[in-house]
Amino acid sequence: MLDNLTQRLAKVVKTMRGEARLTEANTAEMLREVRLALLEADVALPAVREFIARVKEKAMGEEVIGSLTPGQALVGVVQAELAAIMGADLGPEASQLNFATQPPAIILMAGLQGAGKTTTVGKLAKYLREKKKKVLTVSTDVYRPAAIGQLQTVTAQAGADFFPSQATDKPVAIAQAALDYAKRHFHDVLIIDTAGRLGIDEAMMQEISALHAAVKPIETLFVVDAMLGQDAINTAKAFNDALPLTGVVLTKLDGDSRGGAALSVRHITGKPIKFAGVAEKLDGLEAFDPQRMANRILGMGDILALVEEARKGVDVEAAQDLAHKIKGGGKFDLNDFKAQIGQMKKMGGLSSLMDKLPAQLQQAASGANMDQADKQVRRMEGIINSMTPQERAKPELIKASRKRRIAAGAGVQVQEVNRMLSQFEQMQAMMKKLKGGGMMKMMRGMKG
Ligand code: GDP
Repeated sequence: MLDNLTQRLAKVVKTMRGEARLTEANTAEMLREVRLALLEADVALPAVREFIARVKEKAMGEEVIGSLTPGQALVGVVQAELAAIMGADLGPEASQLNFATQPPAIILMAGLQGAGKTTTVGKLAKYLREKKKKVLTVSTDVYRPAAIGQLQTVTAQAGADFFPSQATDKPVAIAQAALDYAKRHFHDVLIIDTAGRLGIDEAMMQEISALHAAVKPIETLFVVDAMLGQDAINTAKAFNDALPLTGVVLTKLDGDSRGGAALSVRHITGKPIKFAGVAEKLDGLEAFDPQRMANRILGMGDILALVEEARKGVDVEAAQDLAHKIKGGGKFDLNDFKAQIGQMKKMGGLSSLMDKLPAQLQQAASGANMDQADKQVRRMEGIINSMTPQERAKPELIKASRKRRIAAGAGVQVQEVNRMLSQFEQMQAMMKKLKGGGMMKMMRGMKG
């Protein structure tokens, strides 16, 4: 959805270099790109305006710290503001359900057909069952008997109780009967699933308003499909006008959507996004995390965190020395390799590095088993540690007797030493081609 934002930001990050401050002039182009990308992604215009104004205010005059480029610093501001606007400044309680009422706590679900309401009822029921709550569900979708059956199925899967409703009854009567039942059977929570139409219509809004008035739920959750574009805006507006919503559930975040709808819906309703649906299965519900969503919308992985860590734990100068050495035709030897492994470990190993790469890169590397690779790197390190500095500088010295000594020192078979040496030779050849040095090149790439 917001792929363009990533591309646009990456482009501007590259061009914004060598300035110590964020200024009106050097951020103008970047902000224009952010604005265009958000609009292209169907984020509502007022939401875009408010967002840009906030970023501008925060960014102006901000010192560009340490080794960050101004572009990276601005990405940092954009990320922080995205998170703030999606609820990070509301605190973690914002995603909690409110139970401060006489039981049963009533949760009313609202949203269009297909948004994921029934599935979400099942997920919530499961989530609440795990918190040892006694849960009852009921459907007031008298227009679609299949929907009632679907709720019965997911309720059973969640291990909660189901209140059967007759398609011939009125929605308000059904909800009241379910409430009576819940009171008599000491349920902690009653979740009411409602009918959804394919579009917003007056009759449906009146029906759900009447339901709300009759049962006075403590939570009224608006369920919205993250894949909806501009429609998410109109739907959110209609439901927000008709009902005093208390929160939003954003579903289908496991799809292609980058979550742009989160921004609009948050802006229009002003209500916290409480949960995110991340799978069809009943365990696919997560407390909404504004920071994670901001990263997802930016689509730049966690570049800033990586740069931060790189600055904290890794000797950037040594890395640059090495890069220079290789660039200048110097040989990449096992001492360099050992130093590289050490730096990589400081950054949390290969698997942790992977988590911080942009989504596209992560996908490209998804076939590789990083834990396995980490283990292998550790074994290689053991072997290198058993070598003398001389051997590391000149691996060609390592003949049969030295190999036996090294293998014994590292507690491995001689074949493994051979394998390691031939892998190293391949790597050396690759480094020559790159003329930059894999890891170092990657790090420098991310700093610029
Ligand atoms: P309702 O009409 O609002 O009750 O929507 P349903 O609960 O029937 O969901 C509509 C479709 O979306 C179903 O096929 C669900 O399996 C699917 N669905 C709901 N939530 C999610 C989700 O978070 N991720 C995925 N992938 N599918 C979902």
